[in-house]
Amino acid sequence: MTGKALWQNLKILAECDHNILSLEKQKREAQKIFTTDQELIQKLAISIEEKKNRFRQEQKNVDLQELQAHDLKIKEEAKRTQLANVGSQKEYQAVRKELDRVSRDRDEQEDALLKAWHQLETAQKSYELEEKNSVGRTADLTEDIQAKAAAVQTLEQQLVELHAKRETLVQTIPPEWLVRYDRMKHNVPDPIVPVIRSSCSSCFYAVLHQDLYKLKKSDILPCRSCYRFLYYDQEEEKDVAKAAY
Ligand SMILES: [Zn+2]
Repeated sequence: MTGKALWQNLKILAECDHNILSLEKQKREAQKIFTTDQELIQKLAISIEEKKNRFRQEQKNVDLQELQAHDLKIKEEAKRTQLANVGSQKEYQAVRKELDRVSRDRDEQEDALLKAWHQLETAQKSYELEEKNSVGRTADLTEDIQAKAAAVQTLEQQLVELHAKRETLVQTIPPEWLVRYDRMKHNVPDPIVPVIRSSCSSCFYAVLHQDLYKLKKSDILPCRSCYRFLYYDQEEEKDVAKAAY
């Protein structure tokens, strides 16, 4: 393998690894949102269920209070009838007292019933509102989950392709260079950089004259300052110069 083919392949390998990292990051992010969306849907369902149960409890409470109010009403009517049929003043006083007590209880029961009705109404509104809001929210979340699942699938496919490309590429690079590349890759995100204007384009350390000579002969050398692999590409240097103006 000539020097030029070597640095070109190392450069492609670095791009490939960079893309793999980027796709893996995107995949993790999509999976995270996917999980969060699922949790939100579950929370919404639990919240609706809680409000529904509350509504049912309030309904039961109203039924109970109505029953008690009805019982007291009957009791009161019975006392009135009894009062109309008393035989003595003494008995009248006693029944009258009982009637007053039942009437008081009935008044209190009416208040309790009104309160129960109010609580039922509040619980019903809260349940209906939650249910109404959750329909749209759940639909949005479900749509997002499907989009994220599709995105993850696409990313996985791209990763399979990139790994295959990498596998082929790796076979073209001498093992000693791969070892050096892997070591460098763990330290910096851009292990192979061009020489631009006679300097390392990453740390801007000036390349020695004799090194530049070797690089121009398609050699690869480590930067004496940052240890990144350096190569020289006339075209790339021209492009950078053009971009600068
Ligand atoms: Zn450098």
